[in-house]
Amino acid sequence: QAFIDAIEVANPQLNAYVRTTPELALKQAEESDRRLKSGDARPLEGLPLGNKDLFCTKDVETTACSKILEGFTPTYESTVGSNLWNAGAVMLGKLNCDEFAMGSSNETSAYGPVVSPWRRAGADGQLTSENLVPGGSSGGSSAAVAADLCLGATATDTGGSIRQPAALTGTVGIKPTYGRCSRWGIVAFASSLDQAGPLAKTVRDAAIMLRSMASHDPKDSTSVETPVPDYELALAQGVKGLRVGVPKEYRVEGMSPDIERLWQEGIEWLKAAGATIHEVSLPHTKFALPTYYVVAPAEASSNLARYDGVRYGLRVEGKDLIDMYENSRAAGFGKEVQRRVLIGTYVLSAGYYDAYYLKAQKVRTLIKRDFDDAWQSVDVLLTPTTPTPAFKIGEKLDDPMAMYAQDIFTVTVNMAGLPGISVPAGISVDGLPLGLQLIGKPFDEATLFRAAQVIE
Ligand code: GLN
Repeated sequence: QAFIDAIEVANPQLNAYVRTTPELALKQAEESDRRLKSGDARPLEGLPLGNKDLFCTKDVETTACSKILEGFTPTYESTVGSNLWNAGAVMLGKLNCDEFAMGSSNETSAYGPVVSPWRRAGADGQLTSENLVPGGSSGGSSAAVAADLCLGATATDTGGSIRQPAALTGTVGIKPTYGRCSRWGIVAFASSLDQAGPLAKTVRDAAIMLRSMASHDPKDSTSVETPVPDYELALAQGVKGLRVGVPKEYRVEGMSPDIERLWQEGIEWLKAAGATIHEVSLPHTKFALPTYYVVAPAEASSNLARYDGVRYGLRVEGKDLIDMYENSRAAGFGKEVQRRVLIGTYVLSAGYYDAYYLKAQKVRTLIKRDFDDAWQSVDVLLTPTTPTPAFKIGEKLDDPMAMYAQDIFTVTVNMAGLPGISVPAGISVDGLPLGLQLIGKPFDEATLFRAAQVIE
């Protein structure tokens, strides 16, 4: 009830929730109370969570924050969602995000932008009135966690959408290894890159949440049948002797000096805790962003072909079938989604396929091999999560290239299928949160949590 009340007060300003489900929450909470009293408590008993609107929710409208899915009420729950509710967690509502998770600022949502609860300090030390982005695409998740409108939130990450919003709001977000969490029941963006993960206040909270979210699921053939460790237990192990790699290619131009300084501090903290530091090279890093922005739109254009005005949500009639398709897609998809569909269909079309899509897939393999080589000498990698702190709402909206550049440090992880965590590490000179990223070996999320705890 306390969270429901807090959402009512703060959400009109923040726009983090697009839909609340107070009745469902109170019903789940009562069931939790009953189990607690009868002594059979589950791991997440009674913990109030927000659920990104990309996750299908049984009998609760799910739109991926797109007009085209308006009125779509799934008859099923995502596997990750079911796992959480079966573990005793309570759903407070559906969280805002970029339309179909395409974006880095939560400004492409059909429900309007999310406002970060953070404020920049001006030269006089006073807080400014500018509204800042909470990152994206999981901007509702990061803002809600940062503003205490839930204890944790689900999120998804195709090229950084868990880690970048975490970095921009001083929260913890982990994108698990591809295959760790089931993608079943999550609205698809780019299926070979998409992963679900938690956004939470602390590393321990994220560790507890991920353990319940992860599972092998026969309904997602890419989910992997491997035991899910007790990540909370792993935290106690510390980082003595851990080999931490610092990739030299991540020292890019245009990185804010605050982030450069913080990266160095992170190195020192890990060293002081007993880790050893090693410079490593990931030579194909500079190709990651252009490659991602070929592969992700290609897969998106194929995934989004299903929204035709017939099967889901919005339909705008026309003089014939093709006309109806066109009208529905023109009215239902926002500008950024249309841009991705155009790029995607272009790079997949006959004559361009070899030059763009196939080439990108080859480069993707080279990016993955860079990491395979790095794992010969180190256990984790330490990098910044983003090149800059949070920016003003509207600042990058008309410049897609500047927006895409936000993802420079995060997309490589998705291209290689690796786990990556963003952990709040410090603040900028003007008082905004900054994050560091740890990248791990496949299915070694436990080591990421251990190292992240040293930094937080
Ligand atoms: N910002 C990236 C994009 O727009 C990543 C989004 C995501 O991870 N879902 O594609």
